[in-house]
Amino acid sequence: RFMDSLKNLQPVVMTIAGSDSGAGAGIQADIKTCAALGVYCTTVLTAITAQNTQRITACEPVSVQMLAQQFDAVTEDFNVAVIKIGMVGSVDNLHYLVARLSDYKRKNSNVFIVLDTPLRASVGFSLLDVNNADLLWKLIRLVDLVTPNLMEAAFLLECAEARSTQMMALQTLQFVERGAKAVLLKGGHLVGDQAADCLLSTDTGAAPVWFSNTKISTRNNHGTGCTLASAIAAQLVLGYPVPEAISRAKQYLHTLLQQSQQRHYGLGSGPLEC
Ligand code: PLP
Repeated sequence: RFMDSLKNLQPVVMTIAGSDSGAGAGIQADIKTCAALGVYCTTVLTAITAQNTQRITACEPVSVQMLAQQFDAVTEDFNVAVIKIGMVGSVDNLHYLVARLSDYKRKNSNVFIVLDTPLRASVGFSLLDVNNADLLWKLIRLVDLVTPNLMEAAFLLECAEARSTQMMALQTLQFVERGAKAVLLKGGHLVGDQAADCLLSTDTGAAPVWFSNTKISTRNNHGTGCTLASAIAAQLVLGYPVPEAISRAKQYLHTLLQQSQQRHYGLGSGPLEC
């Protein structure tokens, strides 16, 4: 009955992610993206990073206890419709999230979980020290959509990075065969003038769905992954089905990247800013 009373409240996103002091990626990107799309975003911090547009100089994960307290505080008082997971901060936090989310999902089967766990920042800093992918796979099998880039997919599948759209389609199949409910494999790093992402979902059937946009040449692309995943989360809260939510999120990202060509907030790889 308690959960039913929350269902009458405005639906929100709950992001579980790290803080970026330069505010281009992480929690800050998630809040900005959701706000721009008209969706309220609650935040569960996993780690604090000291970073700017050029480098990450320090990273401190929060304790499992603090992570758990934030998770409980948000979920006991908000109508969490979509959970977006970004940087998890530590292997201990990852262990906790696997256990907590599998229990949470059992009790709240309607909540949709988007997973975009970055392993390495574009500037080369490791965001999660996992030696093998097994624990990440436990999380992947729990969530409704996982959004790896080509490098992350290669790590998770223990294979070579895809170098063609054919290879990408094959890898999405491998994700589903290994137990992912749906995967959006992001092909932005593929050579060529198109940024093509491939969705394979156990819901929409056996055929992959492609989302393609012209690549934008800008070095101000810090936080692209976080922004796309939280835009998808926001569009899902607004009621769009998965393929439509992805298509709208990609369009939103495309516009931001175009605008970011003219804005320079730091001396390095700047944020997407409107
Ligand atoms: N810092 C935090 C807290 C992040 O969550 C991420 C990516 O998700 C990054 C840094 C790296 O962002 P990028 O590789 O887009 O520069």
